[in-house]
Amino acid sequence: MNDLRELYQEVILDHSKRPRNFHGMPEANRSANGHNPLCGDRATVYLHVEGDVVRDVSFEGSGCSISTASASMMTDALKGKTVAETEALFARFHELVTADPSKAATAAAELGKLAVFAGVHEFPMRVKCASLAWHTMKAALEGGDKVSTE
Ligand code: ZN
Repeated sequence: MNDLRELYQEVILDHSKRPRNFHGMPEANRSANGHNPLCGDRATVYLHVEGDVVRDVSFEGSGCSISTASASMMTDALKGKTVAETEALFARFHELVTADPSKAATAAAELGKLAVFAGVHEFPMRVKCASLAWHTMKAALEGGDKVSTE
């Protein structure tokens, strides 16, 4: 279990130091701004949705390593997914970090690499860091603009 935890920390560190898809997106047709006042994390998520498919996802912002790594891995995971698949992943991720014990294991199995965030449920303050990008993405998808984790 310790090896696994170390691996998870490496993945999170890697994504926080070298975030993927970290840029604006002129062709985006959905975007939203998210703020987590508890930690000071800010994220803007851009989506290029074509028909039923999320063609491209990117983000900008500043925050702690958990929020940055989560946004980075989310953008990687969502590219090319349908809107329905994206909403399903959002729901799984939420179950994972809030750790409803009856659902967390199934959620982890379906999330692949994103399962590294299972560890944050031990740190309630960090749950909001990990889910900020996801809530912001959901708001963008639904045509919202601003989202706060408060
Ligand atoms: Zn944070």
